Amino acid sequence: MQKPSKFPNDPLGKLSLKVQACTLCKLSKTRINSVAGEGSSSSKVMFVGEAPGSHEDSEGRPFVGYAGRILDAALHTAGIRRSEIFITNVVKCRPPNNRRPENDEISACRRHLEKQISLLSPKIICILGSTAYRSILGGKSIIADRGRIVEKEGKRFFLTVHPASVRYNRSLYSALEKDLSTLAKKIHEPGLPRKNTIRRRKRFAVSKKKFSKRIN
Ligand code: URA
Repeated sequence: MQKPSKFPNDPLGKLSLKVQACTLCKLSKTRINSVAGEGSSSSKVMFVGEAPGSHEDSEGRPFVGYAGRILDAALHTAGIRRSEIFITNVVKCRPPNNRRPENDEISACRRHLEKQISLLSPKIICILGSTAYRSILGGKSIIADRGRIVEKEGKRFFLTVHPASVRYNRSLYSALEKDLSTLAKKIHEPGLPRKNTIRRRKRFAVSKKKFSKRIN
């Protein structure tokens, strides 16, 4: 059963209630829960993935299954706390059998994502994987373009691979970790004294042993 929003009265909380009741596309017929997104309404960093999987569908929360564990490990190493970001997906309901979302589903859900972006007004939006890259920026190859910043219509986007892709190609974990460390510098360093930054990196360093436990 989906937990009620922690912020039911703020505009993002209200939008999340709308998303929970949304019937704009066929995915509303097969979902258990829609997954609007999660994070503080004062967050300045937004992450956008593809669509909820089965764990997310059951819990009504984004990135709580395998992809979530990979994302959490890479965020941890980079020194980014999950509580400082807002996480959502291009499509808010699970496509059956975890297939890629179809174009009509992406189009129907676009209004929710656009509203979230306009309410949050993030300084940077981290694109996770090729579906988000294609549907938000019209991009082709996330592998070729990862690690870059793209500006579009006054918004800044940072590109990286989808955490679930690590399941099929382990070497992509280092790419994700490296990209999130680059992103962390962009998020943290201007306002942080150097000493704090170094301490922060040490605190968040994850041993190889711990990491292999997380991804297996
Ligand atoms: N994959 C995604 O793209 N989003 C989730 O929330 C979970 C897995």
